Amino acid sequence: MSETRRVAIVTGGARGIGAATARRLAADGRAVAVVDLKESDAQSTVDRITAEGGTALAVGADVSDAEQVAAAVALVAERLGPPAILVNNAGVIRDNLLFKMSEDDWDTVMQVHLRGSFLMTRAVQEHMTSQGWGRIVSLSSTSALGNRGQANYATAKAGLQGFTKTLAIELGKFGVTANAVAPGFIETDMTRATAERVGMDFEEFKAAAAAQIPVRRTGRPEDIAATVSFLAGEESGFVSGQVIYVAGGPRD
Ligand code: NAP
Repeated sequence: MSETRRVAIVTGGARGIGAATARRLAADGRAVAVVDLKESDAQSTVDRITAEGGTALAVGADVSDAEQVAAAVALVAERLGPPAILVNNAGVIRDNLLFKMSEDDWDTVMQVHLRGSFLMTRAVQEHMTSQGWGRIVSLSSTSALGNRGQANYATAKAGLQGFTKTLAIELGKFGVTANAVAPGFIETDMTRATAERVGMDFEEFKAAAAAQIPVRRTGRPEDIAATVSFLAGEESGFVSGQVIYVAGGPRD
């Protein structure tokens, strides 16, 4: 089966970790659907993949909207073929200390990370189970272990770990694995926004983070893409229900 062109879906693939992951899976020979809120944003990743010789499709969808998710998955199945790999990567932050956190900050984070991953996975699983092969990789975070100012995000990222372990139990007999990747500090627009929020220059912010990380550097989107590539690969079929921390050290 290693020569089969499997179809992958990467949510939040317009930039950051999602874009790097979409490019990596395309380089691995997958046909990749890049899903993001705006199709035009997803198209920029698709253009890069195409220029690099890969096959990709841009799809505009909000992962927290059940109808948009169903339409997006149907479009992917029709245009690229039945999806066999799903990377639940779309994410947002709405950081604030608990006493200042609004209900909207809480709900938005739960909607995108938890409801979004649930809806996408529910929509894609029938294609995976009918093929008897599937790989689900969800983006958790070292924040799942607790992080000041992120009660909403930490809860969602810990929730995704429980979701992953349950998927592994339910779907294993159909040849489908589910794992989570929990990044530490990765250089993306998301960490750039965090630096802005705390009033620090991004380079200074990165240097401060690197000093606390055992390998003495911050992570790059390609570090995460490489780990997702393994978990989405042909040879990882006996790895399921795991959370792999990719953080330059044991946790952050
Ligand atoms: P990013 O640069 O902010 O990119 C996130 C992408 O998700 C954006 O393209 C965004 O679209 C898209 N998105 C947001 N809400 C969406 C929705 N409802 N439906 C579809 N797409 C949506 O983030 P990143 O840093 O690459 O992070 C990617 C994932 O890794 C997230 O789950 C994040 O929580 C996790 N993570 C990141 C780090 C880190 O240090 N960067 C660490 C641990 C975990 P718009 O641009 O239109 O908003």
